[in-house]
Amino acid sequence: MFESIAVEGVKGLQPYRPGKPIDAVARELGLNEADIVKLASNENPLGPGDAVRQALVGCVDELSRYPDGGGYALKETLARHLSVDADQVTLGNGTSDILDFIIRVLVDKGDEVVVSQHAFAIYGLLTTIAGGKVVEVPARDFGHDLDAMAAAITDKTRIVFVTNPNNPTGTWNTRTELEAFLARVPESVVVLLDEAYFEYVEEAEYPDGIELLSRFPNLVVTRTFSKVYGLAALRIGYGVSSLELADLMNRVRPPFNTNALAQAAAIAALNDKQYLADSVAMNKQGMAQLEAGFRQQNLDFIPSVGNFIAFKVPAEADAMQVYQDLLQQGVIVRPVANYAMPEYLRVSIGTGSENAAFLTALEQVLA
Ligand code: PMP
Repeated sequence: MFESIAVEGVKGLQPYRPGKPIDAVARELGLNEADIVKLASNENPLGPGDAVRQALVGCVDELSRYPDGGGYALKETLARHLSVDADQVTLGNGTSDILDFIIRVLVDKGDEVVVSQHAFAIYGLLTTIAGGKVVEVPARDFGHDLDAMAAAITDKTRIVFVTNPNNPTGTWNTRTELEAFLARVPESVVVLLDEAYFEYVEEAEYPDGIELLSRFPNLVVTRTFSKVYGLAALRIGYGVSSLELADLMNRVRPPFNTNALAQAAAIAALNDKQYLADSVAMNKQGMAQLEAGFRQQNLDFIPSVGNFIAFKVPAEADAMQVYQDLLQQGVIVRPVANYAMPEYLRVSIGTGSENAAFLTALEQVLA
């Protein structure tokens, strides 16, 4: 009945499929939650830090009040950390909110957005809902081919999405590549630079999108508290842009889109330098552990600078079956067939013991 009258973009759409939650796996397979290792959603394996826990407790007495819809304190804190004007910051209920805002502001029926093959799925999903057309540019060695993406821009293009590093491939573009690309993009086309995994990247040639904002007013940089800051459950992320684009995004932003707990926790997380350093160090160690494990099992993988890595399932095995078999062993990873990578699985970097449990289960499953 309603399917036929639903807005055009929603017809035939598949809902976004997140990583399987621990309690769902426990329920379906009759396993104990404590025995399950979830490495499916690029979460921080350290859990929340003490500063965040204290900030959350401090919020409890105010739960009956609406949050500060403008997020004044968090925006001021971010502005100081990033050396930008607080009014350049747009707060989101996760980065996905910001993606939704910029698409709603700019994409009308028939407009185009440019994405890379193997790019994060949400860009295409939200564009389709808005009635826009998704122009997908073939990847180069699994990474963004920025030259080809610039060449794909037409007079209908409103946004080009660049994910640096990209999820699920973990590939990244250098400062030189990104600047050359930005110089080619017309001023009237927005570049959404998604830096969800920014803090993990240590490569010298990796660019900081915020530093490019003053030269490229058509740039929107997004970052999140869901990954290295360990706050995925609270849903908080942000965009940094020109004042004009921030103003436009704030017009479509729901009045209380970020909640008081998330705002307070984000401030505490930003000020907790030790937690950030510990998270990055643990990720580096875990990445080395998984790479060594893959090499030992003769498995190909895509070198990654994020907190996850995609590995290739041997030709004689089926990636979906390996995913299911790992689930049976209580290890949740992420199939990426919907990212046109049917032979790959993505695994998030966990604690040392979680990584070891995954590698052991993988060896058994592939034996
Ligand atoms: N962008 C990328 C590239 C991501 O991988 C993710 C999370 N999977 C997001 C954005 C969304 O993050 P958030 O939790 O802030 O909505």
